[in-house]
Amino acid sequence: MREEEGATGSTSAVEETRLREGAVMTDDSTTVAELFNGVFQVPDPRNPSKRILATRNLNPGRSIYGESLVRHKFAGELAEFRSWDPFRSKLSAAVLNRLEHFPFAPRVYCLYLGASTGTTVSHISDIVGNAGRIFGVEVAARVAREFLENVVKYRKNIVPIVEDAKHPERYPAIYGKIKVVYSDVAQPDQTEIAVLNCNMFLEEHGFLFLVVKASSIDALKSKKEVFQDQVKILERSAFRILEMIDLEPYDRNHAMIVAEKA
Ligand code: SAM
Repeated sequence: MREEEGATGSTSAVEETRLREGAVMTDDSTTVAELFNGVFQVPDPRNPSKRILATRNLNPGRSIYGESLVRHKFAGELAEFRSWDPFRSKLSAAVLNRLEHFPFAPRVYCLYLGASTGTTVSHISDIVGNAGRIFGVEVAARVAREFLENVVKYRKNIVPIVEDAKHPERYPAIYGKIKVVYSDVAQPDQTEIAVLNCNMFLEEHGFLFLVVKASSIDALKSKKEVFQDQVKILERSAFRILEMIDLEPYDRNHAMIVAEKA
């Protein structure tokens, strides 16, 4: 896929291959299509012959990181969508690179490690809705402040945890059944950190979304070797690997591993 096509998602290629079976088409099916629960393709406001990935804005009128807000009719009503940039969010990049497992859905509870300023968290917040929860862990105080002031303050379904993800025993705030752990901490021991958190909080048969940054783990090995090493660590820790997505061309040094807790 060419980079410029990928950023917006080519309408025909994406529509033909990515619409899940029984996907909900809207009253106006020529404009909005739902790929997964809460993940949409909408016309690109800059080029209406193309489409972009988007989530439905839980907080209409407010953009978080400069993403476009576009309004379209969906399921009989006017809805506002936020563009979901694959160059800014690795989950968006994974969806465009044909991710098959997508357990995020309304009412789902997630634990998110490495929340940063909340770019990806905000889209998951749109998807899980007000009956879902995202417990967002971030260790860097300055970054966490921006997360709190720019994202958490405006959304009821995010519980911020300013802590080190190496110490999950220090999160007093977690409650409910965690169906997904999403981990993006870019540390040398990122896989071990994710496993530690899953062992403590992830429900049986829950999902781990592990963003692997190859250069953070071993800059001397090829990225494929590093990705395979992480797969082995997960398998030894009783995870079943469901898929691994290379995030090129959106991100040259990352893969997303999706695994299920046995
Ligand atoms: N996931 C974010 C997104 O898509 O919007 C980007 C995450 S960024 C690559 C990695 C974040 O992990 C940084 O904000 C960093 O401060 C945080 N981090 C690194 N080590 C951590 C740790 N041990 N515990 C919690 N957060 C950590």
